[in-house]
Amino acid sequence: MKAKKSSLYAVFNFKCPRCHEGKFFLSHPYDLSKAGDLHEHCSACGLKYEKEPGFYYGAMYVAYALAVALFVTIWTSYNLWFPNVSVGWQIGTVIFATIILGPYIYALSKTIWAKFFIKYDPNAIAEFKSNHHS
Ligand SMILES: [Zn+2]
Repeated sequence: MKAKKSSLYAVFNFKCPRCHEGKFFLSHPYDLSKAGDLHEHCSACGLKYEKEPGFYYGAMYVAYALAVALFVTIWTSYNLWFPNVSVGWQIGTVIFATIILGPYIYALSKTIWAKFFIKYDPNAIAEFKSNHHS
């Protein structure tokens, strides 16, 4: 229960940024026909995920930052541990990793972006339920 309060839990498990309970995406990141498609509302707390049209355009910056971080991590690892590997092979690995991790990075960028603006609210689910019954 304690882990669920952490933002990292919500971000990496693709949960609702407000209640950390409801699912954020329609499907998993590698279901490419639905990649990055969000539920309209959180099933647990009723939060409207797309606060305004185009809200998630900004997630592109996050995706870019993640891609750069990935690139730097691979590059640094090569130079630390495998300095004799050819540059072509290094570039190949970066491209391969970007393609393989691309959908995951894309999904992650949206949950991280949402988390920038939407704070965890432990009472969100209870409030949503009480509003529903009245
Ligand atoms: Zn929620």
